[in-house]
Amino acid sequence: MHDHRRLGRELGLFDTDPLIGSGLPYWLPDGAAVRHALEEYIREAERRAGYRHVYSPVLGKRELYEISGHWSHYSDDMFPPMDLGGEQVVLRPSLCPHHALIFRSRSRSYRELPLRMAELGGMYRSELSGVLGGLTRVRAIQLNDAHIFCTLEQVADEAGAALEMIRRAYRALGISPARYRLSLPGPGGKYVAAPELWRRSTELLTEVLDRSGLPYEAAEGEAAFYGPKIDIQVADGAGRESTLSTVQVDFHQPERFGLHYIGADGAKHRPVMVHRSIIGSVERAVAHLIEHHGGAFPAWLAPVQVVVLPVSDAELPDAAALARRCADLGLRAEVAGPEHGSLGARVRQARLVPYQAVIGAREAAAGHVALRLRDGRRPEGLTAAEAPARIRALVGSHGTDLWDTGADADTGVDAGSGGRGGLTAG
Ligand SMILES: [Zn+2]
Repeated sequence: MHDHRRLGRELGLFDTDPLIGSGLPYWLPDGAAVRHALEEYIREAERRAGYRHVYSPVLGKRELYEISGHWSHYSDDMFPPMDLGGEQVVLRPSLCPHHALIFRSRSRSYRELPLRMAELGGMYRSELSGVLGGLTRVRAIQLNDAHIFCTLEQVADEAGAALEMIRRAYRALGISPARYRLSLPGPGGKYVAAPELWRRSTELLTEVLDRSGLPYEAAEGEAAFYGPKIDIQVADGAGRESTLSTVQVDFHQPERFGLHYIGADGAKHRPVMVHRSIIGSVERAVAHLIEHHGGAFPAWLAPVQVVVLPVSDAELPDAAALARRCADLGLRAEVAGPEHGSLGARVRQARLVPYQAVIGAREAAAGHVALRLRDGRRPEGLTAAEAPARIRALVGSHGTDLWDTGADADTGVDAGSGGRGGLTAG
């Protein structure tokens, strides 16, 4: 079983420093490359799905969270306020209030709905130091968040489309949900009191789940303080579940912030807010990806996608040219020359890299590369111009298969190249 904290350090993805503080990891270049690829994928998927991105500050006045209800229902998880010249400012516990204000900043017509507002933004949680470690319990969180402001009639379609985006993203990431959970309120006082609104939003989410045909279980005590939600649970190697993705229906905050749009009838109407997150926080998503893949990320996420291995110093210029061609195509490529050891040692060293391009005297003379895939396959007969283009196309399709099985692909597994399945298999 993989532990993302150990692997994160071993693979040089992230680390912590007591002087920065617990629960405040920093990302090393390879980890930042994974995170950047993930964030880019999400932004692009959202852009295609009609979301518009915004940026909003990670701070807000205490009053903002009193209005949203966080102050009375969620303050245990919030950092204490800071006094700034007579006013109190808070590190935000969620992005919703800022987005509600952005919606409210302009007069809105029903023609603008559904208005899909997205942000990969920072938020903060005052986790106790005792439970901190790695990327799963952190105090500074980068959230893949979005709020869809829409009419009641549009809610089911929007929530259904969000579920479909989540399914597509999981396919690209090579992960699968442990289960879908309909999270309902439980006993206790942390929820806003509005029985009619709770009933309506629960009905809507149940309808969305039933329509999607996905199996799900209801769980009491797991709702947000302002409404029920669909949680997509993932499990680690030990079977411990956590929530990665979520879709929520919220009548509460639109009311608290007095949101409205002008309807076709010329009158003011209250929109509904659908909160949704495809991958949750990038910290938790990357932690799960590290553990699930054992560091052998899908090619589009891999910190290094292509490692070029010249057999001897004589092929160094060809290797450098190939790495440059890869970089020109937007691939993350590096050369590991003979100074790093024997070819066998370098192949083992690069066992998590999806594509290894070996150039010996024969390949250099013919303008070819001997390509080895991380899963052991060796596609044959590729020129130094074709290989980067083929890899670029595969990476761009955000698939999890390292090669399209065309006529020239050799599917025989070579025992010497490390095999499938990450570190333990190497
Ligand atoms: Zn929200």
